[in-house]
Amino acid sequence: METKWEFSAGGVVFRKTEDGKIEILLIRVKNRWSFPKGNIERGEPKDQAALREVKEETGVDAEILDYLGEVDYWYSIGLTRIHKFVYYYLMKYAGGDIVPQKEEIDEAKFIPIEDVEKTLSYETDKEIFERAINSLKKLGELNE
Ligand code: ATP
Repeated sequence: METKWEFSAGGVVFRKTEDGKIEILLIRVKNRWSFPKGNIERGEPKDQAALREVKEETGVDAEILDYLGEVDYWYSIGLTRIHKFVYYYLMKYAGGDIVPQKEEIDEAKFIPIEDVEKTLSYETDKEIFERAINSLKKLGELNE
């Protein structure tokens, strides 16, 4: 059985409502909710890939505030096992309307921060979300 590696980058994008509540941008593919991400192109810096993928998948412009770290998981396509690494950044919403990328995304949506954990489908995303919360607290964007 063959093994391949894949490398993607993505963003935990947040925005604040007028009454100061934090919302997080999630995407839905079929019935699974996660953060926007996508393949890092050859020679492309990870942070640029993350911003580009957020824009391509959701239509949203964002600004990177922090690096949240990487996660890895395995999946298979036919007889090929793929070991995937994803690098995540904390991002602040900077503008743009939500326009989900037709070919890949079924829905993109800002969700109240208190609903995110139960909405996320994958354990690795829950881990990244926890790091995002810590980072938001550290940056003074979220109260302890
Ligand atoms: P990308 O969004 O990086 O361009 P993709 O859409 O081709 O990649 P993934 O989102 O990695 O691929 O999905 C490939 C497979 O891995 C799917 O079966 C998906 O359900 C599964 N998968 C996606 N994210 C995770 C995760 N965080 N943990 C475990 N499995 C995942």
